[in-house]
Parts: sequence; C-alpha cells; structure tokens
Amino acid sequence: MNLYHFTLSTSRENLFNITSMVNDALCASKVKSGAAIIFCPHTTAGITINENADPDVVTDFLFGMNKAFPDRKEFRHTEGNSHAHLKASCIGASETVIIENGKLLLGTWQGIYFCEFDGPRTRNFYVKIIGD
Ligand code: ZN
Repeated sequence: MNLYHFTLSTSRENLFNITSMVNDALCASKVKSGAAIIFCPHTTAGITINENADPDVVTDFLFGMNKAFPDRKEFRHTEGNSHAHLKASCIGASETVIIENGKLLLGTWQGIYFCEFDGPRTRNFYVKIIGD
C-alpha cells in the first residue's frame, strides 16, 4: 500500500530531478504526516538530495565524482563499470524525507535526484509513503 513505481530513460551519466514525481506519489497517497522512502534497485545508480537551483551544481557534482572515482585499469570486474559501482555505493540507494502537513519537508534549495552513473539505461525507482 502506498508504494509507487517510476521508470526513467537515462543518458550516460546524469542527475535527474525526481522531486515532482515524489510529490505526485505523496499527493496520490493522501498521507499528511509520515515519511517518504525513495529507493533505487540498481547497483550503478543511486538517490541523493542536493541543490536544485543552480544547474552548475549537477555539472560540478558529476565532475567531482569522476575525479574521486576514475575508471582504473587495475579494476578486475569484467563488466568494466567498477567506477559506477563505487559511485553508487558512495551515494547510496535511498533517501528518506519527512512528510508534514501533506508536504515533503525539504529545504528551500533541496531537490531529490536519481543519479545515473552507467547509462544509458531504463531505470526504476520506488517511492513508499508511510504515515497517515
Ligand atoms: Zn558491473
């Protein structure tokens, strides 16, 4: 109950602002007080909360992640995407946001992002709304 499934067609590597989709799930649930869990069931993608105002933040985020987790010839994983697995574990597969007065309790500058580290792919994420 109150579990919502979404799909995304992603580009190679990007952040997708999914805040409006989470809000759609919250509206459908009619929950006024509780929590939203946003979960990504993939091993080379993740969910994060970050600034939604300046698009350069996303550009810099991806630049920084590639500096922190470059592809390395020493990696043994035959799929060739170990750097994407590292980024996914660093970011994490889920976020939890408090719901109060029927709204997500996000800060003014916060947005919820689906992070693609190994696209293009068709991706899924789930939103579970808990509360009453
Ligand atoms: Zn892999």
